[in-house]
Amino acid sequence: MEFLRPATWDEALAAKAENPSALPISGGTDVMVELNFDRHRPGALLDLNRITELTTWESGTYEGQEGEVIRLGSAVPYARITKELSGPLQGLSIAGNTVGSPQIRNRGSVGGNLGGASPAGDAHPALLAAGKDVFVEAESVRGTRLIAIDDFYVGVKRNSLEPDELIRAIRIPVADGPQQFSKIGTRNAMVIAVCAFGFALHPKNGTVGTGIGSAAPTPRRAAEAEQFLADELASRGLWESGGLIGPAAVQRFGELVSAAASPIDDVRGSAAYRRHALAVMARRTLTWTWNEYTQSLRSAAA
Ligand SMILES: Cc1cc2nc3c(=O)[nH]c(=O)nc-3n(C[C@H](O)[C@H](O)[C@H](O)COP(=O)(O)OP(=O)(O)OC[C@H]3O[C@@H](n4cnc5c(N)ncnc54)[C@H](O)[C@@H]3O)c2cc1C
Repeated sequence: MEFLRPATWDEALAAKAENPSALPISGGTDVMVELNFDRHRPGALLDLNRITELTTWESGTYEGQEGEVIRLGSAVPYARITKELSGPLQGLSIAGNTVGSPQIRNRGSVGGNLGGASPAGDAHPALLAAGKDVFVEAESVRGTRLIAIDDFYVGVKRNSLEPDELIRAIRIPVADGPQQFSKIGTRNAMVIAVCAFGFALHPKNGTVGTGIGSAAPTPRRAAEAEQFLADELASRGLWESGGLIGPAAVQRFGELVSAAASPIDDVRGSAAYRRHALAVMARRTLTWTWNEYTQSLRSAAA
């Protein structure tokens, strides 16, 4: 097996253009498992670990995206997201903190999660919930392409990257309201999610974001649930008053999230259990975030 070790991003792009089948390796926490189990034997590995800019992040404003945005290098490990970005990327930080073990969180990255595009990846529900304005920055020798997160996942473990493209960064708007992530597993650490749910309140534009993990062929949002809740919050003036959403609306939100999934029965859980668990996680994350939001309204008024 050939081992390509570019020293710069330009060299990495050139190497990928010359060897489109070369498998990128970042933290290696997915790639090395595949190799160790002999599930996959690529002709070449493209090691991205010498490219320092992939492990940095910056905040700024970007054309086509409203407000402040974090441009997260594809190889920034989860441990650093939790340590350095728990405020601006609250949902992703909570999700990242549930990944594997400390060792895995020190190596594993959002770029790697996106590269693998597993429906069970924990970054995906948080990225979807962060809004439609999240973009994967894909780059090749041909230039940069911004892929909206809703267009990124195209099938089971398949994404919309072209063979010569690499993920340079992920552009995520800074959280403008509380965000949450919830995951069901057989224990608290080192498990693939039976199912997962990401949720975000976006008071600035009066929307809410959702992301479903491990309960459909790809990560996906619960569009009808998002619309229902946004309408409910707007029509009752709840964004301004911070009043109670009420059990009927919370229940309905959970039902719509559950209905948006298309889970299967497998060794980790049944489809029926996943549907049930999603409704529970949707109700809980909505309650947690709404409590946080109303508390912030009260503090601002005091
Ligand atoms: C013990 C263990 C526990 C785990 N627990 C969890 C968990 O709880 N939740 C979870 O979501 N995942 C879990 N994982 C899987 C893994 O840690 C994550 O998917 C992680 O995000 C992968 O990141 P990485 O940088 O290690 O990716 P790598 O293994 O380096 O790469 C993963 C995939 O992405 C591609 N890739 C990497 N970088 C790029 C790039 N810049 N551009 C294009 N493609 C790229 C690779 O070619 C490969 O296909 C676990 C893994 C292990 C071994």
